[in-house]
Amino acid sequence: MGNFSDRSWSDVLVHVRNHRPELFRSWFNNIEPVDLQNGVIRARPSTRSHYEYLSRECQSAFTEAAQHVTGRLVTVMFEEPAEGPEPEAPLSFEEDADQIKLSPDYRFEHFVTGPCNRLAHAACIAVAENPGRVYNPLFVHGSVGLGKTHLLQATCHAIKDRQSDARILYISCETFVNHFIEAVERGAVHQFRYHYRHVDALVIDDIQFLADRERTREEFFHTFNTLYQSQKQIIISADESPANIPSLEERLVSRFNGGLVVRIDAPCLEVRMAILRKKARLRCVELPENVVHHVAANVTGNTRELEGALLKVIALSQQYGGVINLDVARQAIGDHVPDQVKPITITDILNVVTAHFGVRAADLQGKRRSRSIAFPRQVCMYLARELTSLSLEEIGGYFGGRDHTTVLHAARTISEQKKRDSELSATLAGMIRTLRPVD
Ligand code: ADP
Ligand code: MG
Repeated sequence: MGNFSDRSWSDVLVHVRNHRPELFRSWFNNIEPVDLQNGVIRARPSTRSHYEYLSRECQSAFTEAAQHVTGRLVTVMFEEPAEGPEPEAPLSFEEDADQIKLSPDYRFEHFVTGPCNRLAHAACIAVAENPGRVYNPLFVHGSVGLGKTHLLQATCHAIKDRQSDARILYISCETFVNHFIEAVERGAVHQFRYHYRHVDALVIDDIQFLADRERTREEFFHTFNTLYQSQKQIIISADESPANIPSLEERLVSRFNGGLVVRIDAPCLEVRMAILRKKARLRCVELPENVVHHVAANVTGNTRELEGALLKVIALSQQYGGVINLDVARQAIGDHVPDQVKPITITDILNVVTAHFGVRAADLQGKRRSRSIAFPRQVCMYLARELTSLSLEEIGGYFGGRDHTTVLHAARTISEQKKRDSELSATLAGMIRTLRPVD
């Protein structure tokens, strides 16, 4: 291949890996360098989704690496692999639509399961194996960064893997809204309907953005019914359960509740550690166990923050010749924690609640069920839900080993009661101010 050897290509990969660790993926090793002609290095990824990722995200990183390795002003171009069926023939409407492409990272094998997400994961697997037949619609909710998009896209990949000609439309709710507005403006509502109603699976991410747009909601409702009646799979995600999305109309809420609604909670320490190991492996980075533990123990927010912390560690390690150890991690994360407020702990909550109700922490954490204890305990659980990122299981663990449904029930009871009881509402507000003075 010209005077550009496989050896130089490996050097290009190493350079990308060292300088742009956030872009690097283990499957980069499968990219085949084709030739170097007229200053252009052509390289061929092995699948279409790899090709799309590379041409979208990595063009300049590779070009820069190739220039560094060859010492010449070369450019890297990725070739579209000539494999598999073409994606369905684009409608004119579809062509200029900026549909979100699936990320090759978001597959089931890269998803870590634990008590926080097991149900959602199992439901997605079942749907992928039997679209339109088991849980329809499937509604996945949870707060930001907990893996909803990952699971939805993994489900799309898995359906495609089993049935490569399945027509799957994965889209953010915003895009759905924009498409519809555009269709109305350009008098192309008919095409819009064709586009959205002739699919085997419609997957809409972040449906909460549909909330206050009446006409779009109407259109969505009809799209939903058409697909549902012809047993096509519908998968939806949102940051809240259907009933808690403000102004999502009743009939949509009841449609969603008619299928399966599953929630994702914040990951516990073990899951966070497993996610770090998985994310590191995906980037071909070796993480010592003490580093895994340190990062997972210090970054307790959502999984996206965890990933950000990992990238910081990898980036900093470049200054130490690629070595990752506890010192490097401390230095990197040390930079991460201060811009967060110190996390609120269960002990903080216990202090405030016991002071207010005049009860003992040991009782709140014990088994007693008398109302004088049960109520303050429910308040604790409510505050823990609101103010910490602990999972339901973890909170239950602090309060006499109660299970997650008890915690969920407690938090719901208090938040319902708060709406009717202004004194309770003021008490809670006071407690929150004490716990979180700046906010
Ligand atoms: P959401 O859509 O709920 O806001 P994402 O799906 O975008 O969250 O997840 C944020 C990041 O965290 C992604 O990089 C995703 O791969 C990762 N992530 C979340 N949960 C998991 C998990 N259980 N296993 C592996 N990665 C996860
Ligand atoms: Mg998302």
